[in-house]
Amino acid sequence: MSLRIAVLGAAGRMGRATCEAVAGDPGMELVAELGRGANIAELAGKADVAVDFTLPSATHSNVEALLDAGVHAVVGTTGWTTTALDDVEERLTGSNLGVVIAPNFALSAVLAMHFAAQAAKYFESAEVIELHHPNKVDAPSGTALHTARRIAQAREEAGLSSSPDATETGAEARGMDVDGVRVHAVRLRGLVAHEEILFGNPGEQLLIRTDTFDRSSFMPGVLLAIREVVSRPGLTVGLESLLDL
Ligand code: NAP
Repeated sequence: MSLRIAVLGAAGRMGRATCEAVAGDPGMELVAELGRGANIAELAGKADVAVDFTLPSATHSNVEALLDAGVHAVVGTTGWTTTALDDVEERLTGSNLGVVIAPNFALSAVLAMHFAAQAAKYFESAEVIELHHPNKVDAPSGTALHTARRIAQAREEAGLSSSPDATETGAEARGMDVDGVRVHAVRLRGLVAHEEILFGNPGEQLLIRTDTFDRSSFMPGVLLAIREVVSRPGLTVGLESLLDL
């Protein structure tokens, strides 16, 4: 039997791509396309899973309403605070409903982060460069911040000291210090979303690079989360939790 899918934020950029991807999946049926002000309660008994690509200010209450309606949720909307995540986790205690929240559904970005965390303890130096289109309003990207934090955590667990850096002048050219890992943000017309993670040792370098060219890159991750959420009660954060890594 097909999974019945609703999309919240269906008229938005990610919402439209999701509707298209769901409609093209033989195991899924697109049963509702909802926008601002829609009555989520009406999904009760009609949808198995709802995908939320809306606004940071709307997504938490949308998820609460979906759980009230007995609908599993897959959330790509960014901006979730730890408090909001804790609320949802508590709400799901003892429930057979699942919620998957993933700030990045692009497999290449999620894998790059994972490989970077694995590599981190073997190198003296680590830096992150993220490169995006010039219409992006935040810098550095959430993915670059998350990558740097995971590298820093792996370095700390391995007992590594700071990356060597003899800079005495021009510190502003050295990027943002994220837990000891330098993060550089490039904004350039023509780019979409890219990230390079650089590791260095005497005489060798490892470069991990991920390139996202359009929104279709997120769809395999979204479809995977839809398939998985129905058999994963509770809260799952991050696409990496759904991959066999
Ligand atoms: P967008 O084009 O602005 O679309 C958002 C849509 O949500 C709009 O159609 C908006 O309607 C609708 N909306 C607003 N409030 C709503 C509500 N309460 N209920 C239902 N729909 C509502 O934005 P986007 O580029 O698709 O991005 C959406 C979110 O996904 C952002 O947070 C973005 O950062 C995130 N994102 C995540 C990933 C990932 O991999 N996880 C990838 C890309 C983007 P109106 O036009 O009427 O306001």
